[in-house]
Amino acid sequence: LSKRLNFPNTNDEIGRLALTFDEMLERLESAFKRERRFLSDASHELRTPLATVKALVEEALESDLTKEEYRHRLISIHREISKMNKIISQLFMLTRCEEGNWPVDFENINLKTMVEDVIVEMDEYALQRNVKLYHECEKDIFIEGDQTLLTRLFINLIENAIKYNKKGGWVKAKVEELDQQVRIIIEDSGIGIPQEDLPFIFNRFYRVDKSRATEGIGLGLSIVDWIVKIHQGKVNVTSTVGVGSKFEVSLPKHQTKLHST
Ligand code: ADP
Repeated sequence: LSKRLNFPNTNDEIGRLALTFDEMLERLESAFKRERRFLSDASHELRTPLATVKALVEEALESDLTKEEYRHRLISIHREISKMNKIISQLFMLTRCEEGNWPVDFENINLKTMVEDVIVEMDEYALQRNVKLYHECEKDIFIEGDQTLLTRLFINLIENAIKYNKKGGWVKAKVEELDQQVRIIIEDSGIGIPQEDLPFIFNRFYRVDKSRATEGIGLGLSIVDWIVKIHQGKVNVTSTVGVGSKFEVSLPKHQTKLHST
């Protein structure tokens, strides 16, 4: 039955055409709704650090601060600016990716080198959080993929595994070679994700519990999801609250023509 167009409910060519138009309208409407939601969520996330910076500056202008107090104020302002910077780069990456505007560059990549490099990069953060980082990739494993995007995938998953961990916890990053695929496994001994949240964690701006961590805005896993899709792969998550989580990404070793841009 035609819902919006005032066509008679017939089963002939016109009736079927009306139905197709209706479906198209519905899809367009939900796309617009998603975009409006995205814009309002994005502005909301930026408003908090911006308001903090504004308050810090105004307060500093109105009071006589010592040099040391000014320094502390500047450190706080710098922290908020870094937050905004991170939000903006994530937003930029996600929108460009989703618009098909990200220059995907498939090349031969050694995942062993990649995981080793990311582990070195994340070492400092893990140390600050008192989390032990391990990695396991016995031999060179090659895959056709985008260097920047796959590095981002490792960073986002490992960063989360550290961020949502416990003091004295661990994170293991493993790469395995299968017949036509490779499997990337990021496992942690962290706080876990409740079963009812699992279906939503890859949605834009979805956060399990806003009180868990103040740094994230819920875009990291949407970016991971997009990177997995562009590589024609799959991601699977298992998690137990209080015990830990395991993210398993399977990627084909070779890309079919579909995405070779
Ligand atoms: P954020 O930037 O908030 O970390 P993500 O999109 O990366 O957003 O993750 C979405 C939510 O999923 C997070 O808010 C967090 O609650 C949960 N999450 C992601 N990874 C883990 C993990 N390894 N352990 C526990 N919770 C996680």
